[in-house]
Amino acid sequence: MKIINTVDSLRAEIKEKKMAGNIVSLVPTMGFLHDGHLSLMKQAKESSDTLVVSIFVNPMQFGPNEDLDRYPRDLEGDIKKCLESGVDIVFIPDVKEIYPKDFQTVVSVKKVSQGLCGDSRVGHFDGVATVVCKLFMMVLPDIAFFGKKDYQQLLLIKRMVEDLNIPIEIKGCEIVRESDSLAMSSRNRNLSPKGREIAPNLHKIMKYGVQLFKNGETKSSIIVSKLKGELESLGFKIDYLEIRDKNLNIVENISLENIIFAAVFLDNVRLIDNLEII
Ligand code: AMP
Repeated sequence: MKIINTVDSLRAEIKEKKMAGNIVSLVPTMGFLHDGHLSLMKQAKESSDTLVVSIFVNPMQFGPNEDLDRYPRDLEGDIKKCLESGVDIVFIPDVKEIYPKDFQTVVSVKKVSQGLCGDSRVGHFDGVATVVCKLFMMVLPDIAFFGKKDYQQLLLIKRMVEDLNIPIEIKGCEIVRESDSLAMSSRNRNLSPKGREIAPNLHKIMKYGVQLFKNGETKSSIIVSKLKGELESLGFKIDYLEIRDKNLNIVENISLENIIFAAVFLDNVRLIDNLEII
């Protein structure tokens, strides 16, 4: 496994792999790797000859009052996990490598960036689209893997690739959960022991929403208000809880394949999750 810090050496290494006829895959991450990331790597490994994992906590996608400084990091542990997962190249650039002096270009995917995380984290998706676009240009992978946990982000990347004619196949991977159903996230590390105990209720309450639908309730507003009440009574602070269709259109009358989307704060830690109604 090669650990690479600069774009030049990354390009040289990948050029060699491509000349040898390798299919190249990319899994972009912000590190503090967990089994969610590892499942993306496993799927990427299965569909390519050279697996590139990037580890970069992207300042551009954090707002001024967000948790950039508190974002968990463990490079040594991450490198070990990459090695164990059969990663071929780990790209760990520093901020100056990605955003050199005078950097001024922003990739902005307009409509998909609106609503849900886009409303509560202003500028976040411009940061995501810009860094992912840059990573795509640096690695030029054949396939790139993203988790459905960040569902809006996945749609945004798919839209960007379509809009900019980027010849990369985008694969969405299922959400990986802890045994108590909490969606895996690097941020879970920042929960207090009490918060960690409460956190799995987010998914449980979303499942209760699906149950309400199965019991005959089809009005989104009614289900949403019940779920919000349940969450608040347990101490969750709600950022948003909404039911939308697969393309993120707001729905009032729920049908199968709609998705419950939630973002909440617990101990000042922002948790997101989504659950398809099936
Ligand atoms: P992050 O390091 O949080 O930026 O995540 C890197 C990639 O891993 C993104 O495509 C995420 O959607 C994906 N990911 C994070 N957590 C999970 C999870 N629990 N299950 C599946 N994919 C995940």
